[in-house]
Amino acid sequence: MKLRTRSAVLMLPLATALLVGCRSPEPPAVPPAAPTASATPPQAPAEGKHSDLPRLRFNQLAMRLNLPLFWASDKNKDGSVDPDEVSALLFYPAQGHWVEAGKFTPEFDKAYAAIVAASKAAAPNGTPGEAARRKAVREEFDQVAPTLVRTDLSGLPAAQHKMVEHVLAATRDIDMLYSIQTGERALKGKVPKDEPASQSLMRRNWGSRCKAPSTEKNPACSAIPGAPKPAVDVYPADVQKEDGFCKKLEKNPHSKKLLTPFSVVREKGKKLTAVPYSKAYAKWMGKVADELTAAADAIKGSDEAPLEAYLRAAAQSFKDNDWEPADEAWSKMTALNSQWYLRVAPDEVYWEPCSHKAGFHLTFAKINKASLKWQKKLTPLQQDMEDSIAKLIGRAYKPRKVTFHLPDFIDIVVNAGDDRDPFGATIGQSLPNWGKVVAQGRGRTVAMSNLYTDADSLAMRRAQDSSLLDANTIKELADAPTPSLLSTILHEATHNLGPAHEYKYRGKTASQAFGGGMASMLEELKAQTGALYFIDYIQKKGIISPELAKQTYLDSITWCFGHISRGMYTPDGHRKAYSQLSAIQIGFLMDEGAIHWDDKAKAADGKDTGAFVVDFDKLPAATTKLMKLVGTIKAKNDKKGAEALAKKYVDGKVVPQAVIAKRFLRFPKTSFVYSIHM
Ligand SMILES: [Zn+2]
Repeated sequence: MKLRTRSAVLMLPLATALLVGCRSPEPPAVPPAAPTASATPPQAPAEGKHSDLPRLRFNQLAMRLNLPLFWASDKNKDGSVDPDEVSALLFYPAQGHWVEAGKFTPEFDKAYAAIVAASKAAAPNGTPGEAARRKAVREEFDQVAPTLVRTDLSGLPAAQHKMVEHVLAATRDIDMLYSIQTGERALKGKVPKDEPASQSLMRRNWGSRCKAPSTEKNPACSAIPGAPKPAVDVYPADVQKEDGFCKKLEKNPHSKKLLTPFSVVREKGKKLTAVPYSKAYAKWMGKVADELTAAADAIKGSDEAPLEAYLRAAAQSFKDNDWEPADEAWSKMTALNSQWYLRVAPDEVYWEPCSHKAGFHLTFAKINKASLKWQKKLTPLQQDMEDSIAKLIGRAYKPRKVTFHLPDFIDIVVNAGDDRDPFGATIGQSLPNWGKVVAQGRGRTVAMSNLYTDADSLAMRRAQDSSLLDANTIKELADAPTPSLLSTILHEATHNLGPAHEYKYRGKTASQAFGGGMASMLEELKAQTGALYFIDYIQKKGIISPELAKQTYLDSITWCFGHISRGMYTPDGHRKAYSQLSAIQIGFLMDEGAIHWDDKAKAADGKDTGAFVVDFDKLPAATTKLMKLVGTIKAKNDKKGAEALAKKYVDGKVVPQAVIAKRFLRFPKTSFVYSIHM
């Protein structure tokens, strides 16, 4: 179940900025005076010269202008955008036709001129409130590092090409469903038509609210004038106006029926009722079903039979809201019998304030066979890993017989709906969350192996981690993707171990005992603690080297910094699962002496004073202790224990959260954009 996300904050390598030479990049926060959009249109630059802006700024402004344009890399290092360096992006209102026969199109020239003009645009005008809002929206985009996920699918056989086209068509319907669920669709008409920045924000953030670190708490930052409070579609709007409405719903005598994952809550007279998704969202779910059926027809009789079977089963589930047959077909796809990974369903609940209702998403990826070697090494250990956790917990938990797929590696092609986050991305996921398939250990787990592995991302990660770790500790930071993938494998494996989603203590599930938000956080804490605990375990079994063990510990620790930097609660006061588990882990490891904050140590970047020092020798014992604690809290539904942990580390002063945030937030944050070459 659930997912692991990385919210690493990234910036472009320094070399990019140096290449622009004396043409200094525009400082984001201080826009110089220049014509506004309503004044004379900007002049196109001289032919062949497209070197007005550094790459990061160019990409930020393209996103701000809602243009499906991305400058992927400065291949020839001339500081100028060239036709073979740009990509057209998916999931924008327009298609983007930038290059024809190796040359830029007039459409590109127009877009380029608009980007340069935006870089010089004067402060927004209007009433003071509206000017402040538009300024804040610009600031939202100043904190973004747009990062490209590009897939080359040229050369596919005709049948597969057709299948992909129908899957891509389904992504548009899934986007529509998710935008209805989040409430984006209901408010879309209120976004100013003349302001691409607000339109882009609405599209990318799945709603009017800002999501970047320095703007998400700014009440003025909204895609809509007046910043109306958004409401999700899965509960009645009136209900959401009440404080603590999630708790009220959870205490409702009919809560079991109302809070099922595949239904919306509607108000009938004075009574609340649950309406199945297939009824509430019949039109768009029907469209998804049609596209999935067409995709199945395209590959009928090919060597992709398991994928064809899943496409047909999923199409049926989108019609009748019974997701188990689709899950059955889905669980039969493997890294060996299909070259594709597809999941299309309502699955995760994190997106909505009460964490009960499943959000529609579509993940489409290519299988990366590098996972097979890890599966071969770790699969024989599954039961032993379960027994190991059970032994730590002791009497409160009896080991189950476990069988589960260790993660397959997948290279993401596109993420649609709930998968396409405004910032960061899911890097691991175990599904389904409910039903027979997961209860019988036949679920499937994946690690997204092509995200954050590009040169830009790796260089930025190093820069950012160098601002918080001392010079000695940073020596263990790897620039290879393996530590992060290994950590994801162990995290996802642990979701299947110990007290898991279907577990009950004295008749109560975790979400009934702890409430949705706390239960989600604890499940993620368990999984990520397993990712730490099992490092030493597999090293002792000779599966990984001591060097890889250290690199993996460090990867997990810096992963926590990234999440801590994002703050502990949403603006509405809901728990951020990853941020909170990160604070608990770092705080606990500090208390155990495995990590300490040295006020006088120089950070590895040589600039900052005060840095984290990791004592790798103390990590195995400290992480074992944490695994025991978290496992026991979950096994006994120990609400008090959970709250004490959160109080101490999430809300307390053990972890220098402000310093972590300050240093990490100097860097812009990754926002993935997608492009397919077919
Ligand atoms: Zn997880």
